Amino acid sequence: MAGIYVHIPFCKSKCRYCDFASFPDKIGLAESYMACVYREMAMRAPELRDYAFNTLYIGGGTPSVIDESYIAMLVAAAKKHYSLSNDAEITIELNPGTVSASKIDLYKRVGINRFSVGLQSANDRLLADLGRVHTLNEFITCAKLLKGANFSVDIMIGLKGQTPEDIGQAIAVADMYGASHISMYALTPEDGTPIYTDYLNGELPDGDEVAEQYAFGVRELKKRGFERYEVSNFCKRGKESRHNLNYWRRGEYIGFGVSASSCIKDVRFTNTFDLDEYFKCIISNHFAVIDRQEISPAERRDEYVMLALRTAAGVDTAEYEKLFGVSFAAEYAAAIAKNVDYLEVTDKSVRIKDEYLFVQNTIIIDFLES
Ligand code: SF4
Repeated sequence: MAGIYVHIPFCKSKCRYCDFASFPDKIGLAESYMACVYREMAMRAPELRDYAFNTLYIGGGTPSVIDESYIAMLVAAAKKHYSLSNDAEITIELNPGTVSASKIDLYKRVGINRFSVGLQSANDRLLADLGRVHTLNEFITCAKLLKGANFSVDIMIGLKGQTPEDIGQAIAVADMYGASHISMYALTPEDGTPIYTDYLNGELPDGDEVAEQYAFGVRELKKRGFERYEVSNFCKRGKESRHNLNYWRRGEYIGFGVSASSCIKDVRFTNTFDLDEYFKCIISNHFAVIDRQEISPAERRDEYVMLALRTAAGVDTAEYEKLFGVSFAAEYAAAIAKNVDYLEVTDKSVRIKDEYLFVQNTIIIDFLES
């Protein structure tokens, strides 16, 4: 299994917490940018001739902010240059403030079969504080346009002045309007973003408060039939994101566009974050890679364990032995013994107990230091 990711780095405006590669003031370059993405896809195709891809994820930025015809051409380019399976999961991220019936209709007609909608909160005051361009009503309009489609909703916790009722309401609205998948992320105040000032001023909830919000959210999600399959991801039965599962299982993926990462044959490489540099490279028929790292066998093993422990299923010990030729229980005996109270250990798997999944980092560190 392998996935394709395409980064669309344009947005209507910059959210206060955002440190992604997104350039609201450069949306006029969308046509040239997409031409470069199509070209990059063509340039990379010969070396991936033998790969079968079964997911395509169009993320950003805000892919829905650009003209829908560019997205249609993008899906066509992916199908033209790569072996994308007939039942591939094709996802596009949508910002509720940027959709229309005709956009969604075209997305569906070109084969996009999964939508990821950034709601973040159902409270307009919190949305405004985050600098989001949309309101709750715009989310509802967007969800109505998606009626019957397979869609996921992103919500955030750890916001300034956010109450448990706010979190419950965001989950309820997503569920009521038909989401089959919900991603619940804690706000990370990144240095250099405007929201970092709120963090320095002590205006954001502290770690314990966020852990309580998370536990509350998990209970609400469970009541509504959303099962956790990864620390931040919850879904109705069978609605897991295949694209993200591939990341968590250390599958291979190729990324196109500014800032996109790839991992092919145990080599990880990342494109430039600089839009002008990306244009210059692609126009002169060079890849825009700025960082390339070969993953050593030890790093491969660490990555596998770290990613698997973030999932509700945990480490499949038989699979581990097959991949790495050693017993997981023997290799990590010390870390397992140290964390025995936080783990569920069976003859088939080792997983972090549900109630400790949110603080998995402290447990995972012991495995990485083994
Ligand atoms: S919509 Fe997403 S990518 Fe765009 S500015 Fe907001 S957080 Fe950043």
